[in-house]
This record gives sequence, structure tokens and C-alpha cells, in this order.
Amino acid sequence: MKIRYCKKCVFPETKPDLHFNDEGICSACVAAAQKDKGIDWEKRKEDFFQIIQHYKKKPGETGYDCLIPVSGGKDSTYQAYFMKEVCGMNPLCVCFETTAVTELGKKNLDNISKMGIDVVYFKKNYNAYRSMVVEGFKRVGDEMWPNHLGIFTIPVNFAVKFNIPLLIWGENPQQEYGGPLESIQTRQLNRKWMEEFGGLLGNRIQDMVGVDGLTEKELTPYFYPSDEDIERVGVVGLFLGHYFFWDARKQLDIVMERGFAIKEDGPVEGTYTNYENLDEKMHGLHDYLKFVKYGFGRATDHACIDIRNNRLSRAEGVKLVKQYDGKYPHLSVATFIAYSGMSKEQIDKIIDSFTNTMLFERDEKGIFKRDEQGNLVRKFEIE
Ligand SMILES: [Zn+2]
Repeated sequence: MKIRYCKKCVFPETKPDLHFNDEGICSACVAAAQKDKGIDWEKRKEDFFQIIQHYKKKPGETGYDCLIPVSGGKDSTYQAYFMKEVCGMNPLCVCFETTAVTELGKKNLDNISKMGIDVVYFKKNYNAYRSMVVEGFKRVGDEMWPNHLGIFTIPVNFAVKFNIPLLIWGENPQQEYGGPLESIQTRQLNRKWMEEFGGLLGNRIQDMVGVDGLTEKELTPYFYPSDEDIERVGVVGLFLGHYFFWDARKQLDIVMERGFAIKEDGPVEGTYTNYENLDEKMHGLHDYLKFVKYGFGRATDHACIDIRNNRLSRAEGVKLVKQYDGKYPHLSVATFIAYSGMSKEQIDKIIDSFTNTMLFERDEKGIFKRDEQGNLVRKFEIE
């Protein structure tokens, strides 16, 4: 089995919605090259400052100028810094906590309030959410499913209730990690974007009604506000990454100067970096599920970005991917066992049901082969 890889970065052709041009370059690299040369960033910057003027409260008025969805990660800390310090706004940050929050995640969320910003910490209905975590894992092979959804819906619900029309999102993930042109060119995050590109894997909140007896009422925060409410408040969700060149490593330096803490004792499970996905104990399982489906994991995502930003050569990227991608996520699975109440055997069986038989070796009984560390045996090799 031979997988084609982008000649510039290390994305494989198995990545959903990724396209290759005649030179063998992937659409994410083409979008990145355009980001470097084809975009008038000065013009976009002016546009942004012009747009936000419209939402700024006048001197003497109370209220918030914008709402920022935050997790306590690097990106949301940067968004908070940018809107407050660079734009001089008074933002309200709304946090939808991850499934199993790490100590570092809590600390970094506290840090946002210490930057002089109000933060709403949404403590969700644990049981309803957990039912969706387990169901999302079984149904679409993603235990982070309700998290992806809640990150999009809860801040927008707060925007409507608090009457704060301007929402500031961070990067456009489709721009940074590759996606259809339509999703890359967009400057706004709205219901349509969320449904098409929000990583919901075709599962809707309506489909969760009835799971463990869940009712619409219990799932209230996960429903996107109605079109009438959105229109009445005039909700607009802008991607900061559409208006300003998004460079994660540079932003990291800025937020660290403002108290953001990274993982000092080594990289996060499943990749080689220590500054992303710090807030969730089970992120490694989510990344691993992507690996068993498509043959690439989080290290590939990070290597691609570092290659495009000229911080890694392609050969170095290949080496890191070989070293970090696709390792069985023992730490995440241990957390998931405790969280879900499922056994390791039950969990592995579900992971196997999403594992791509074209990409991984099986024995004569059809059981996936594994090495001594529990890692799958690949039929492909990155080169
Ligand atoms: Zn590429």
C-alpha cells in the first residue's frame, strides 16, 4: 500500500478534503503560499480595525465590546491578548471546559482573568456531556465530539443572551490544516461553517436526543441559537486568522510573556510539541482515532505547519512523524477508562471498528496486528 504525500509538507492523500495539484503539492500548502504572497495583509488589517470600531462601546458606556470563546489554550490566550491590548477592547471571554481538564489548562484559564479580562466559566451538566462523549466515541469514532460542538454553540448562545454581537475566533483551522477553498476563503464563522467544517462528522445535536434518555432541554447549550436571535443581536463571528498572518510560534512567545505556561516536562502525547492541546487529558485518544482512520496524527499536523513556516525541513518533518505519530495513547486511554466506565477491551474494540483495514495489517483471523507497545502494524510508510 503506497500513500501519496505532499511534496512540500507531510500531509497524506488520505486526509479528508485535501487535494493535490499537478505538481503534487497539497491544497493546504497552496493556501499557505497564498497566505505568504497573495494576500494584502495591510488591507485586511485596516478592514479589521474598521469593522471593530463599529462594535466598541462609547466612553462612559458599560458593557463588553466583543466575546471571545476560550479554552485556556495558546490560541485563545492570544485572542484575548490581541483584543484587549492591541485593539483596546473590553472582551468577555467564555470558556467551555474540555472533557478532562488538566492542571495546566486550569492555570492557563486563570491566567486570562489575570490579564485583566472577565471570564465566564461554563460548568456543564456532567452527565449529559459524558453520555455524548461515550456516544460520540462509539458512533463517529471521536470522543471529543461534544467538545467540538460545545466550543461553537455555547459562546454564540452567550453572545445572544448578553447582547454582544462581535465574536472573535482564532485561526481558521481549514486555512491552517487544509480544506476546501470555500472554507479557506471565508472570514466568518457561522452556523453553516460549523455544520460543514466544524469537525462534527455528520452527527448533529438532534441525533443525540434520546441517547441515555437525553432530552432537548438537557442539551440546550449545544443547540445553535435560532436565525431570528442571531439576526436580532446581529451576531458576527470573525476569524482573526483571516485578517492577520497566523504564526503559532510567534504568538506563543507573546502569550508566554503574559503568563501562559507550557508543558515543561516533555511533549504532549501523540506529538512533539509542548504548547498545544495542553488543557485536555484525552486529546491523545482523539488524535489516535484520526490516525487509525486516515494514517496520520497530530505530529503530522504540527510538522506540516512547521515546514510551511520554514522552521523544519521536510526531511526533519518526516523523521518527527515517524517518531511520534500513531503511537497507542496509553495515558489518554487510561483516563478514558476512568471517565467512561468502559473497559480497555471495550474501548479497543471500538477503536478497531474505526481502524482502516487498507492501512493496517491483520492476521488470518482478521484481528489487527500490534507490536509489543500495542501499536498497529502499518502497511504504509511515510517517505
Ligand atoms: Zn502540503
